[in-house]
Amino acid sequence: MTAPQPGRRWQTWSGTVGCRPAQLLAPTTEDAVVAVVRAAGERGIPVRAAGSGHSFNALACTDGVLLDLSRYRGVLAVNAAAGEVTVRGGTTLRELAEVLDRRGLALANIGTLAEQSVAGAISTGNHGSGLAHAPLSAQVIRLRLVTADGRVRTLDADHEPEVFRCARTALGTLGVLSTVTLRCVPQFNLRVSTRSEPLDTVLDGFTDWAAEADHVAFSWLPWQNRAGLRALRVTDAPRTRDAVRRRYATTLDEVRCGLIGLAGRADARAVPWLKGRRLLPARPAVEYVDASHRVFTFPQPVKFLALEHALPLEATPDALRALRRTLRRTGAYSPYSVLVRVGAGDDSPLSPAYGRRTGYVNLTVPRTAGQVELLRAIEPVLRDHGGRPHWGKAHTATVEVLAPRYPEWELFQRIRAELDPDGLFASDYTDRVLGPVQPNEARAAVTVPAQAGPHETAAVEDGG
Ligand SMILES: Cc1cc2nc3c(=O)[nH]c(=O)nc-3n(C[C@H](O)[C@H](O)[C@H](O)COP(=O)(O)OP(=O)(O)OC[C@H]3O[C@@H](n4cnc5c(N)ncnc54)[C@H](O)[C@@H]3O)c2cc1C
Repeated sequence: MTAPQPGRRWQTWSGTVGCRPAQLLAPTTEDAVVAVVRAAGERGIPVRAAGSGHSFNALACTDGVLLDLSRYRGVLAVNAAAGEVTVRGGTTLRELAEVLDRRGLALANIGTLAEQSVAGAISTGNHGSGLAHAPLSAQVIRLRLVTADGRVRTLDADHEPEVFRCARTALGTLGVLSTVTLRCVPQFNLRVSTRSEPLDTVLDGFTDWAAEADHVAFSWLPWQNRAGLRALRVTDAPRTRDAVRRRYATTLDEVRCGLIGLAGRADARAVPWLKGRRLLPARPAVEYVDASHRVFTFPQPVKFLALEHALPLEATPDALRALRRTLRRTGAYSPYSVLVRVGAGDDSPLSPAYGRRTGYVNLTVPRTAGQVELLRAIEPVLRDHGGRPHWGKAHTATVEVLAPRYPEWELFQRIRAELDPDGLFASDYTDRVLGPVQPNEARAAVTVPAQAGPHETAAVEDGG
């Protein structure tokens, strides 16, 4: 473990949120994690874990001890016959995918980013797209959790099953995820097909579109009437020669979006013009085949800010129609498209996909103050349609807004109070989104409002 470095600043990948913990420690073994948790517990100093810092808010921040787990990494065991892989929590999805690939294995579905840690992705309900696929945390078979009492608990569906369900999406508030065993599948290739259609056609047939391929997504620029659709189908066909070029085309688009964002600082109305005419001409329909992990993710060098909500699948088209009206009214433009993905329901109590098939609606904006207006405008629209904010992205929701949206909220809070009665893993931010830890006796007396109003909070801070 590195020596304590009091006062060193830690910040998120996007650079929009940071903190100055009293101690920033980077353990490399489970024993070291346990020792830090015990010592902090004895001294009453709060602890937060950080993975690769790719959340857009202060979830990982603390003024106590920050455990930077980016050096606690590596694949520990691969059981190809059982389809299981065990990794240290700080391992990135990139490292994991590369090791699995060498063993002829893969994860069935991941999001667009390879740099996040396995523990961070699991803890925030990270997801890819595909109606048959729940968030990554649903692929967890077993995990080892360092809890506030300094014990290491091994949790799975047979050992402390309720704690296991809760620990799969826990925002770092039940303890430190040490190792995680994930389900994996034989390596597979994906055929990528893209096309463009009028947005209204996609929205009118939304649930059919959502089921048309193994993984689907569409993106849409609010001032346009057409959407760019992407469908991925599992195939036995070999990788095509243009695969590398195709993959980097998406990265190139992101770089162009970043440049347009800079140009749009002076006048946001220039953004559609630059997108349409100069820097981002519409791409023709393409079709190619590549290994699944290279199709799911792509390098994302340009920093930005993002807000995403998980909605009931059936409510998503109406939410997008309302979003179109709102975004067109604002007169502010982001060079990034609205991204729409879908997913299966999940049974982890704090999973944004809990209990329902889900449509995910994401808006990305450059990191400039003017663009945050767009996030402010769309958050109430998504909430009005039953949205639950992505735990790792920018949002303003508080415990009052969030609790009524999660049917098993109280179960999570009861288990949190049992595992961490003194709030060792709490912070100002977790107090905002989950409330402070309350003893279970006090909890019985508390009632949760039946329905959250749509506009409880007015602002989206920079990731705050
Ligand atoms: C460029 C980019 C692309 C993205 N794409 C997607 C996407 O496609 N789909 C999607 O769903 N999200 C996406 N996200 C969001 C992001 O992936 C998640 O927020 C994820 O949490 C980041 O993982 P991390 O390792 O950076 O976690 P951090 O941001 O470091 O931490 C997130 C949370 O996990 C907790 N945590 C971390 N490690 C541990 C541990 N060992 N034990 C207990 N708790 C821990 C922290 O305390 C914190 O609460 C994207 C983000 C970026 C920046």
